[in-house]
Amino acid sequence: QQDSRLERISSAIRVIPDFPKPGIMFQDITTLLLDTKAFRDTIDLFVERYRDKNISVVAGVEARGFIFGPPIALAIGAKFVPMRKPNKLPGEVISEEYSLEYGTDKMEMHVGAVQPGDRALIIDDLIATGGTLGAAIKLLERVGVHVVECACVIELPELKGREKLGDKSLFVLVKGA
Ligand code: AMP
Repeated sequence: QQDSRLERISSAIRVIPDFPKPGIMFQDITTLLLDTKAFRDTIDLFVERYRDKNISVVAGVEARGFIFGPPIALAIGAKFVPMRKPNKLPGEVISEEYSLEYGTDKMEMHVGAVQPGDRALIIDDLIATGGTLGAAIKLLERVGVHVVECACVIELPELKGREKLGDKSLFVLVKGA
């Protein structure tokens, strides 16, 4: 049953070559959101894994972590905290810079959204090089949060993003190329 759910999820993800630039195989999860069964199965698989893990915070990475994070947070009784692109959050923030293929980017979180001792699950749609999740881990750990695990719908294993997460474990549903 698990396998048939994962197969359905995998086939609901549309792959668009050369978007947003040549050579990138873009994994489009908007088609997964249109398949009500596959979307529900996606959330259920995460909820089944995390409901008994004492998670107090689901931290979702902008933008697609904002789609998968909140239904998981509600189902497991955790708060949802958005990890945002720079200059979007109105309150006092702490931020973490990380490197991209060309240049750098920044991730921000509201001060006071999490407390030392919180237990966090970090969620995004996809891990490629791991730079984004790595920054999210650092940001949360800087304020004394225990990162229990990172979770994504899709992993691109060839990019070896897992190696950027140090000793943090990563849970993914499906693999893309
Ligand atoms: P990275 O920091 O390299 O692990 O990149 C992960 C972030 O970039 C995630 O927020 C993804 O949504 C986005 N991303 C990177 N590569 C792709 C891809 N091939 N298809 C869709 N999204 C991607």
